[in-house]
Amino acid sequence: MVTYENWREISPSFSSENQSKGAHAVLEWAYRTYSADEIIYASSFGAEAVVLIDLIQEVKSDAQIVFLDTDLHFPETYKVIEQIEERYPALQIEKRKPRLTLEQQAAAHGTALWKRDPGLCCQIRKVEPLREALTPKNAWISGLRREQSPTRAGTNFLNRDDKFQNIKICPLIHWTWEDVWNHIRTRALPYNELHDQGYPSIGCFPCTQAVGTDGDSRAGRWAGSGKTECGLHTN
Ligand code: SF4
Repeated sequence: MVTYENWREISPSFSSENQSKGAHAVLEWAYRTYSADEIIYASSFGAEAVVLIDLIQEVKSDAQIVFLDTDLHFPETYKVIEQIEERYPALQIEKRKPRLTLEQQAAAHGTALWKRDPGLCCQIRKVEPLREALTPKNAWISGLRREQSPTRAGTNFLNRDDKFQNIKICPLIHWTWEDVWNHIRTRALPYNELHDQGYPSIGCFPCTQAVGTDGDSRAGRWAGSGKTECGLHTN
C-alpha cells in the first residue's frame, strides 16, 4: 500500500488517455488499495464534487465522504448535499463541524473573523476539522483540477501531502471546466444552483462572490483579499 511514509518506494502511474482522463483507473486503484476505513473523499459539493461523487459511487457505493461544515455555507449547498444523499443513499456522508461554534469563535477571536483574519478562520473551521478527519486515514481524495489555478497546475493523480501527512489522490487533474459540465449534464446530476447565478466556485457565503459565467473557476473566492486557497491544499 502507498503511504505517506513509503511514498518514494511505491508510486504507481496512470494513463490519462481514456474517456475519464484517468479518473476511473485512479479511483479503482484507490479503492482496491485502501480499505473503506483508510480512504475518504473531502468534498465541497461544488461542480467537481458532484462529478467525483458520481464516479466514486460506481467504484465504491458506500464510500466515506466528509464535508467541512463551517456553519457558513449557503442554503443551496446544503440542498445539493440532500439531493446527493437521496440519489446515492449508500454513501457515508459526514458533515464535520469545527470545534468552535461561531459564537465561541467570536468570543475568542472577535466577530466576523473572516474579514480580519481569513487565514485563522479557515484554520479553525476547515483545516483543523479536516486534519481530525484524516488522522486515522492513509489517503484522501480531492477534486482538484490542474486548470483551476496556477497553484493547482502541478497537481498529480497521487500526491504526498506533507500538510496532513497523507496521500492525496486527485482523479480529475486533467478535466476541464467543460468536461465537468458535460458530465453533469450527461448524467443529469444534481448541482448547486448558485453555479447558474455566476458562482463558479462556492465556499462559505462571507467569502464567495458571484463573478459571472466566463471567469476562471476559482474567481469569486476571498475576492480582494489576496487569499486564493483555504489552506487545505497548501503546505
Ligand atoms: Fe472562514 Fe471564509 Fe474560510 Fe469560511 S472561507 S472558513 S468564512 S475565512
